[in-house]
Amino acid sequence: MLDRPAKGRNPGAVSAALAELAALFGNRLVTSLAVREQHANITTWHPVAAPDAVVFPQNTNDVQEIVRICARHCVPVIPFGTGTSLEGHTNAPFGGVSIDLKDMNRILEVHPEDFDCVVQPGVTRKRLNDELRDQGLFFTVDPGADGELWLILGDAA
Ligand SMILES: Cc1cc2nc3c(=O)[nH]c(=O)nc-3n(C[C@H](O)[C@H](O)[C@H](O)COP(=O)(O)OP(=O)(O)OC[C@H]3O[C@@H](n4cnc5c(N)ncnc54)[C@H](O)[C@@H]3O)c2cc1C
Repeated sequence: MLDRPAKGRNPGAVSAALAELAALFGNRLVTSLAVREQHANITTWHPVAAPDAVVFPQNTNDVQEIVRICARHCVPVIPFGTGTSLEGHTNAPFGGVSIDLKDMNRILEVHPEDFDCVVQPGVTRKRLNDELRDQGLFFTVDPGADGELWLILGDAA
């Protein structure tokens, strides 16, 4: 259930990237095993492959810095929304840094006439629906949509 050795993992590069990230993000960079395992895929039959660290950006600049640092050291990054994917997508088989986007949770624009909206990546379905309720709109899971997002006009009650 714990970290498994991953092909292509470069411990020296990971250490260097984590040192730079720690200097920038302080306690928003977490390396505890419990948190790393929570950010591997736990809703699937795939074995857990934890990242080397989890970082919590608060804005686009933070994300850019994380990606720049990791790219410079050739360390993988794995964006993390809420970890509900079912096919092992948030696993880190080659190690790397999980970017947990939960703190980027602002709804930026709602366009009721177009049935679309602009949100930061940490916005959850429930949070969006709380915001849309008064406009008679809701966002629902659509099993046939294959990941596409749709706003459905309907009774939000
Ligand atoms: C009980 C259950 C029922 C479900 N029913 C349905 C259903 O009916 N229809 C359906 O379509 N799905 C369904 N799913 C699948 C699930 O809803 C989707 O996988 C979910 O939308 C993934 O969102 P997440 O934020 O949890 O992503 P995560 O699991 O955190 O990530 C999924 C993948 O997307 C990447 N990612 C996450 N955020 C970003 C980002 N901001 N930018 C780039 N990449 C990113 C991750 O790195 C990972 O590869 C169901 C899941 C469960 C557990």
